[in-house]
Amino acid sequence: FETLAGTDPEIADVVLGELDRLRGGLQLIAGENLASPAVLAALGSTLSNKYANGYPGRRDYGGCERVDVAEEIGIARAKELFGAEHANLQPHTGASANLAAYAAFCEPGDVVLAMDLVAGGHFTHGSRTNFSGRWYRPVAYGVHRDTELIDYDQLRDLALAHRPRMIIAGASSYPRLIDFAAFRSVADEVGAILMVDAAHVIGLVAGKVIPSPVPFADVVTFSTHKVLRGPRGGMVLCRAEHAKAVDEAVHPFTQGGPLMQAVAAKAVAMKEAATIEYQNYATQVVANATSLAKGLEGEGMRAVSGGTDTHLALLDVRPLGITGAEAVRRCGAADITLDRNEIPFDPAPPADASGIRVGSPSVTTQGMTEPEMVEIARLIGRALREPEHAEQVAAAVGMLTAAHPAYPRD
Ligand code: PLP
Repeated sequence: FETLAGTDPEIADVVLGELDRLRGGLQLIAGENLASPAVLAALGSTLSNKYANGYPGRRDYGGCERVDVAEEIGIARAKELFGAEHANLQPHTGASANLAAYAAFCEPGDVVLAMDLVAGGHFTHGSRTNFSGRWYRPVAYGVHRDTELIDYDQLRDLALAHRPRMIIAGASSYPRLIDFAAFRSVADEVGAILMVDAAHVIGLVAGKVIPSPVPFADVVTFSTHKVLRGPRGGMVLCRAEHAKAVDEAVHPFTQGGPLMQAVAAKAVAMKEAATIEYQNYATQVVANATSLAKGLEGEGMRAVSGGTDTHLALLDVRPLGITGAEAVRRCGAADITLDRNEIPFDPAPPADASGIRVGSPSVTTQGMTEPEMVEIARLIGRALREPEHAEQVAAAVGMLTAAHPAYPRD
């Protein structure tokens, strides 16, 4: 770091400033986490210099002996951790992993059946702003209006009516468990490929606290930096029969040289995720999200679907007379970082939204447990109801984070 500060003090300032921000506030963005110093060390390594197009043992460049070892170790760890027949660690992000999965199994113009964005889906599941909505023909299933749980009857009806080439299970803001067996059965009925986008929940699968999609899906994609706590990146798991198609879809179809520093960092994260400590963390992540959702209900918000089974909760903030965007602003003024989110059937425009999404991974990594979640819910409630007291709430946030620091100094 001294070299960075010497060479480029402005950027060094940004890096240190971001560390201060992480230490000084509560990070409740559901897809964020605090990667370990070991993961960060691999990321900031000389592996960044290496061109390694191709796969271990069959690269387009010389000098790949060392990086081959990192990728081989990473692939073996992924297969072991997730019980998968094949793993590709090269996608640059979760969205790139999704692009590769579409490319491996679909042709432009094919019908893809995926979750509606407003019900919790991701923009790579058919948004017109994205390749998925431009190059494929998306059909969307949603949730029941009353329970806000996935409507599996609608899923089946749409599958029978539209005969999709691929069905996607998985979401960005769905707090409940997904019935992968039900998806498999619909996919089998119409002869579709089943892709599970497990970006959000794969870290809970790794920690063995929720059921795995791997036995049910033809292909599983995910980001590696969310609950899983690895480097920013993506990954694809699939059955052996699809290995060649998936590998070719990642490179050369969608990517050039892999980021070998990230591949190595993913290997480190999976070593960490195979430990008892990680399993305890993953168990606590769910317990914390449950407790946070309950606490926020106690503060007058409505938990979408009545709660959570995962690391995230979605809260309707309309009972407080504000929008999701305003809630984000008020919490931000009190050093609490979260994001606005549409709720199912949201009448508000997306830029305002009626909900907020809260996630427990970062605060759990900081060692916080249920009593802190009760306190955080109380602080969020106060920040939302009394914006004029943001400074007082921020001071209380400061006490919480001082007791459970991000990246402790020793
Ligand atoms: N898929 C889902 C369900 C997501 O929630 C996300 C990110 O939030 C992605 C894919 C994209 O991941 P990334 O940001 O790593 O590209």
